[in-house]
Amino acid sequence: MRTLYILSHDLRLEDNKILQDATKKNDIIFPIFLKDSKLEKLSGASLWWVKSSLTNLANKIGIERIPIVESSGSYIPVLKEIINVNKIERIVSQRIPFPRVKYAFNEINDYFLSRGIENKMYEPNNLLSDEMISTIKINFGNFGQFFKTTNEMRFDYGEEDSTHLPEFHETEGTNGKIEFSSWERNLAKYWDTSESAANLTLKNLLEGNLEKKNTELSPYIRHGQINVKRLWKKLSGKESEGVDKIRRNLLWREFFYCSYARRQYSNILSINEKMENFPWSGHWDRLINWKEGKTGFPIIDGSMRKLWEAGWIDNRKRLLVSDFLTKLYLIKWTYGAEWFMDTLVDADEANNYSSWQWVSGCSDFSWPFFRIFNPLKK
Ligand SMILES: Cc1cc2nc3c(=O)[nH]c(=O)nc-3n(C[C@H](O)[C@H](O)[C@H](O)COP(=O)(O)OP(=O)(O)OC[C@H]3O[C@@H](n4cnc5c(N)ncnc54)[C@H](O)[C@@H]3O)c2cc1C
Repeated sequence: MRTLYILSHDLRLEDNKILQDATKKNDIIFPIFLKDSKLEKLSGASLWWVKSSLTNLANKIGIERIPIVESSGSYIPVLKEIINVNKIERIVSQRIPFPRVKYAFNEINDYFLSRGIENKMYEPNNLLSDEMISTIKINFGNFGQFFKTTNEMRFDYGEEDSTHLPEFHETEGTNGKIEFSSWERNLAKYWDTSESAANLTLKNLLEGNLEKKNTELSPYIRHGQINVKRLWKKLSGKESEGVDKIRRNLLWREFFYCSYARRQYSNILSINEKMENFPWSGHWDRLINWKEGKTGFPIIDGSMRKLWEAGWIDNRKRLLVSDFLTKLYLIKWTYGAEWFMDTLVDADEANNYSSWQWVSGCSDFSWPFFRIFNPLKK
């Protein structure tokens, strides 16, 4: 069957259930990447990551390009054209469990199904399936409890198969060349966005130093170049402080995904409604100084400049700079979160907006508002 594969958080060929199924069915795959910032924010450094990874993927499967298809609002007219031109019979994609994306994909499903085109959505790149989530009662005010329950769970790892790939064809009826700005080209000095780099980073970690302070896997996980279930499986049976930390962090990611999927608008509104009336400061010059790394506090400025330069800073630095902006400069968390969405290579709505809510004391899972980092000491 001629199958349109809408890529999103799954920029990998190996260990990919969609491609495994397509191979078994002898499908011919027409890949595209759909971008619509009204549905999911993708810009700056993370968009660069996508563009660069798609270029790598296209090279690997021997086609000229995987087009990024932009739409504003409804995907249907754009997809209709692509489906007609390429004589598509089936659509496949990985589900993204964010509220706005969910509605858009349901709309696509209903529209094309009624015209005889099947639209199959696969599980997202998460450990917990919807079914598993429905069996646990999540108390969002208590990560400890969530951790205790989920850390004991067994996940369905699926089969690992990297050898057979389906046939790929270039997708016609789309335009737009992938181009890189000079700022984006600079990011390439710091990151190899290919799937093989993801595999190598993981291999080095598993065979070498699991006690590393930061694994730096987050952009590969964000863009689906590492299957988190596979990662979890590879960690099972290993015991060390480093392994415990990675597992715990992967469960923070699950926790934030659960919260984000269930609490619509938590990208713009504080989960703790009272905090919507908090008297935030309107000193926009402070916000600019923070973004540009000109606050006069060396640790804050160094971190913010590194973020701009390399598109990544570790969790400790993210905590420091977000705490500083919201609790010392009293700038509302949403402004900092949007800057992170633009500048992080691993920018991820669920992790980012939830982390900002957490740090700034604006959610039910936050640490206390009065707990403030000293930007001179840490
Ligand atoms: C204000 C703020 C904003 C953040 N924005 C993002 C973001 O946009 N995207 C993102 O992936 N992470 C975000 N984080 C979480 C965290 O900082 C990064 O995931 C982490 O720095 C990645 O480093 P690592 O790969 O070495 O993590 P490891 O320690 O190796 O952890 C393994 C994986 O678990 C996940 N993870 C780790 N820490 C966390 C955490 N605290 N919360 C949720 N997931 C976690 C990541 O996918 C990570 O790769 C944010 C944290 C803060 C405080």
